[in-house]
Amino acid sequence: MRLVLDWDGTVTERDTLHMTIERFGDLDVFHAMEEQVGRALSLNEVIAVEMETITAPFDEVLGWLLEVVTVRRGLAELVAEHDPLIVSAGFCELIEPILERERLSVPVVANRIEPSPDGWRAVFLERAACAVCGEPCKREALAGNGPFAYVGDGVSDRCVSLAADRVFARDGLARWLDERGVAYEPFEDFVDVRAALGEPGSEA
Ligand SMILES: [Mg+2]
Ligand SMILES: [Zn+2]
Repeated sequence: MRLVLDWDGTVTERDTLHMTIERFGDLDVFHAMEEQVGRALSLNEVIAVEMETITAPFDEVLGWLLEVVTVRRGLAELVAEHDPLIVSAGFCELIEPILERERLSVPVVANRIEPSPDGWRAVFLERAACAVCGEPCKREALAGNGPFAYVGDGVSDRCVSLAADRVFARDGLARWLDERGVAYEPFEDFVDVRAALGEPGSEA
């Protein structure tokens, strides 16, 4: 069974988009926008408005992220054993250099960012609107790829987690699944996930 990981707040200990907006963007816009998710605006629309509040040079932002972003314990071992796919609502340009820093090669499906002094512009993957949530969500990204186990923490993981054959959840995703009475396996780090998955290939 394929293993699929969310990036922000799942692979990384803190949400790197939140960190970036906190450091380089406008946190008031961020908080106002977070309340709009799933209401007036789609998740992509919210992320786009938030990213527009960043005007710093890309190298400055990336250099800072490379210094401060930490990944959850057990990631390297999990990657070596289970060859996961990362699917993120964030941006390749801010994910791949962190993986390189960790000396890990992991396929990433994510959006693109075009940094600009006028405000960074999000360029989203072309994806059909999901029949379940109505947004171009991660369920749509994984459709037709067979059974998968999903590991996530937040809003972008909600719809896809309902389509997964096995779900590992923490934080907001865990609370959201609790509210819906949907079963999941809690995790703190990838040591937990590896222990639950067992030896690669041993699953039925
Ligand atoms: Mg996340
Ligand atoms: Zn969906």
